[in-house]
Parts: sequence; C-alpha cells; structure tokens
Amino acid sequence: MHDDELGMLATAFNAMATKLEENRDALYELTIRDGLTGLYNHRTFYTLLADELARSQRSTRPVSLLMLDIDHFKHVNDTYGHLTGDAILRGLSELLGQQLRAIDRVCRYGGEEIAVILPEIDPGTASSIAERLRACVETHLFEANATVHITISIGVASSPTDGDSADSLVAAADAALYAAKRSGRNRVNIIFSPCIQV
Ligand code: GH3
Ligand code: MG
Ligand code: MG
Repeated sequence: MHDDELGMLATAFNAMATKLEENRDALYELTIRDGLTGLYNHRTFYTLLADELARSQRSTRPVSLLMLDIDHFKHVNDTYGHLTGDAILRGLSELLGQQLRAIDRVCRYGGEEIAVILPEIDPGTASSIAERLRACVETHLFEANATVHITISIGVASSPTDGDSADSLVAAADAALYAAKRSGRNRVNIIFSPCIQV
C-alpha cells in the first residue's frame, strides 16, 4: 500500500473514531437529561446529590438543596394549553441556569418540580439565593405564544443542618416547600424558620 493510501486510511479511521466518540457522548447525555427541559433527570439528581453529600462530609462544608414548584401550573395549562405550558417549563429551566453558578445542579425532579443542588452553600445563603430566584421569576415575562407570568414557591434544606442523607434532605426541602404553598405561594421557606414574606 502507498504512503498516500495509508494516509487516507488513517484520516478516515480518525474521522470514524471521532464520530463514534461524539455519538457515545450524545447517547450518554440522553440518559442523564430530561427530554423536555434539558435539565438533569430524576435519576441523575439522586446520583449528583449523593456525590455532593459525600464531598460535603469529606470537606465538612455544607451543601444546600432547593425544591421549586410552579404555582397553579394546572391553571396555566388550562388557560394557555399544554404546549405553552411546556414552553414555560423550558423557559424557566433556562432562566434558572442563567441565574446560578456553573457548579450548581439544576434537575427536573418531576412534573413542574425542579430541584437545585447548591454545593458549599450554607442555609442562610441558600435562602437568599432562593429568594433571588423567586423574585426573578415573578418579574419575568415568558414568551410562549402568549406572554405568561408565573410565580414559584421554594423549599430550602441544607446538610448537615437538616440531615446527611439524600432522603432526609429531600424530605426537609419538600416539607418546607409545602409549608410555603400552604402559607400563600410565591414564597421561600426554610423548614426551621417562618416563611419569608414577599
Ligand atoms: P400548586 O400551586 O399547588 O403547585 O398548583 P399546581 O396547579 O401547580 O399543582 P398540581 O399538582 O395541581 O398540578 C401540576 C400541574 O403541572 C398539572 C400538570 O398537568 C402540570 N405539568 C406537569 N408536568 C408537565 C409538563 O411536562 N408539561 C406541562 N405543560 N404541564 C405539566
Ligand atoms: Mg405546582
Ligand atoms: Mg407540583
């Protein structure tokens, strides 16, 4: 075989190897992300949270969790339709990503519930971040066929304050979220303190 033929073969082989690698990466992304929003999916959320809790315990630094839920989202769907509802979910996911650090993990927990893992963030700072997100969503106009205004409620929990396992942290953030809902929605709540009024 001539040198130029060998060169062509090597080039074709390298292109094929690159393409295989790209396909493998794309397939991997499909397994860890939610199809609608592009956020990490429910399973990946638990993997990431376990990793962050282990890191937090090694470093003795805190980690916080926010559980966000869109207020009266059923009414949004009923009023504007599910496609608009889907577009709002995508828009909210993008907005949250813009507001948070690269190391924060934004995950679709399920339905219209989003979980955010905040590495190295203590409870007080987590509440301030949650309040910033709540206010940002309240003033944002989502353009999706119609211009739609939504609000969110957020429950805050932190490790080690509220527990050192994924389940205890999720339960604490959930309890705080539902207390925020009960006390009127469009609120941030941290389980061991009263609702922050807006
Ligand atoms: P609350 O303030 O108590 O949270 O009221 P809500 O209406 O948001 O809560 P509820 O649990 O009654 O309804 C959740 C709604 O979220 C109903 C469901 O259709 C909608 N939803 C969940 N996932 C999706 C989705 O992927 N796309 C759209 N368009 N809607 C979704
Ligand atoms: Mg809701
Ligand atoms: Mg919900």
